[in-house]
Amino acid sequence: ERVVAPGAEDLERAAEAALRPRRLAEFVGQRVVREQLELVLHAALGRGGTPDHVLLSGPPGLGKTTLAMIIGAELGTSVRVTSGPAIQHAGDLAAVLSSLEEGEVLFIDEIHRLARPAEELLYVAMEDFRVDVVVGKGAGANAIGLALPPFTVVGATTRAGLLPAPLRDRFGFTGHLDFYDDGELEQVLSRSAGLLEVDLHADAGGEIASRSRGTPRIANRLLRRVRDWAQVRSDGTLDLAAARSALAVYEVDSLGLDRLDRSVLTALCTRFGGGPVGLTTLAVAVGEEPETVETVAEPFLVREGLIGRTPRGRVATARAWDHLGLVPPEVGGT
Ligand code: ATP
Repeated sequence: ERVVAPGAEDLERAAEAALRPRRLAEFVGQRVVREQLELVLHAALGRGGTPDHVLLSGPPGLGKTTLAMIIGAELGTSVRVTSGPAIQHAGDLAAVLSSLEEGEVLFIDEIHRLARPAEELLYVAMEDFRVDVVVGKGAGANAIGLALPPFTVVGATTRAGLLPAPLRDRFGFTGHLDFYDDGELEQVLSRSAGLLEVDLHADAGGEIASRSRGTPRIANRLLRRVRDWAQVRSDGTLDLAAARSALAVYEVDSLGLDRLDRSVLTALCTRFGGGPVGLTTLAVAVGEEPETVETVAEPFLVREGLIGRTPRGRVATARAWDHLGLVPPEVGGT
């Protein structure tokens, strides 16, 4: 057997998991979704049954996986984890479904990426708690309906719009997670600093929060980078000077834009004169998949008023030119 050392990505994932809130009461922000979810869960607990299936949508890193785990904890049940891309065939999903125990939560990340046959199997399982297992091959093949105990599907997606309507309709509750404001991110950071046993000064927390793209995952990641900097380059104090120096080393700019955001914005301004340009053309220019540009970079750039979406494509706003320190081309006519 080969011993495989954990890669940097695994270590980041483990560090992230350690900072996850475990219960709804610890979950910062998203007041509306939290309240709605609390009602759904507590009503089900009160009835002694399983809650409706839950769909969580929103950009990456805002807490969908965290909420799925919290749903399991609040219900006092275990959570089985899978994802759309991990299920290659309907049979893979049938195997997972038929092994579920009563009341369990099945978390399906990136549910919009499920293959069509698996999706169809899932509709039936969610609605009728039944899975059809095909036995035999060819003309002699037979579908045998297998009853499933009641369970709750928690689906997560960055693109709720891509879910086919029949699947979307099977979810009794849909929660949309939105970007966090700086005050909420400061709360996330102060909670994380406590868990990491570091002394984070309030102004340093504010600085990190304002450069975290409204995203707790990024806030926690930047906190760990500032901690590294403070440990190696200074006396371990996480003050404003340490935060600023560390964020400069990691090239996180004043708005918190990262490499992908900046390259999208720069390409839009310098290669396409500020647009309008189609999503696919823009994605090719930065060497990324259109889906990555659309779901990872764009929501934040739009929210910050740096790019606009028009019927003819993406356009850079005056703020984008200004942020990049570039001068927009003269526009002729009106
Ligand atoms: P992806 O879609 O990329 O999987 P996600 O939306 O599932 O992202 P999570 O993995 O749940 O995001 O969250 C990322 C990290 O951010 C978690 O490890 C957690 O520590 C932190 N986090 C997310 N939301 C909150 C919150 N509301 N309060 C405190 N910490 C949070």
